[in-house]
Amino acid sequence: MSQQSHTLDEAAVVNLFAQHHLRFTRQRYAVYNALASEATHPTADQLFQKLSNTDAGISLATVYNTLEVLVKASLAQKLADGGTSARYDATVDEHLHLRDRTTGTLADVPVNLGKRLLDNLPANILHEIESELGFSINRVQIELVGEYAPPTSDH
Ligand SMILES: [Zn+2]
Repeated sequence: MSQQSHTLDEAAVVNLFAQHHLRFTRQRYAVYNALASEATHPTADQLFQKLSNTDAGISLATVYNTLEVLVKASLAQKLADGGTSARYDATVDEHLHLRDRTTGTLADVPVNLGKRLLDNLPANILHEIESELGFSINRVQIELVGEYAPPTSDH
């Protein structure tokens, strides 16, 4: 899990947008780049704050609208949040999140670990839920909630 803060290559983003049939604009590039370079899964407001330092012409409404456009084009996902502002994620592959209760930020669980967790869910319980509630389960979503507690090595 690395804290990336690099700028995406513009040509790569032009290509990516084209693959998703999305017209390339400076603002879309700025918003996508700001989102993809944040590991914390920012809210629209946080992205707006970040962009207003670099791209003074962009409004909060534009950030919101652009995020919705990116979500519709499957270039980002909107993460449901318990009551507060939605957070956005430029990683659209299935992965699990860790939520920090103190700050509300989300971090990605490494894909292999998340997969191991999901693969080890007891199938008999899932089947029991299905038959008891008459529901066919396609996917399990798990969010891990807690506090960031870095291991201390100086004791
Ligand atoms: Zn994520």
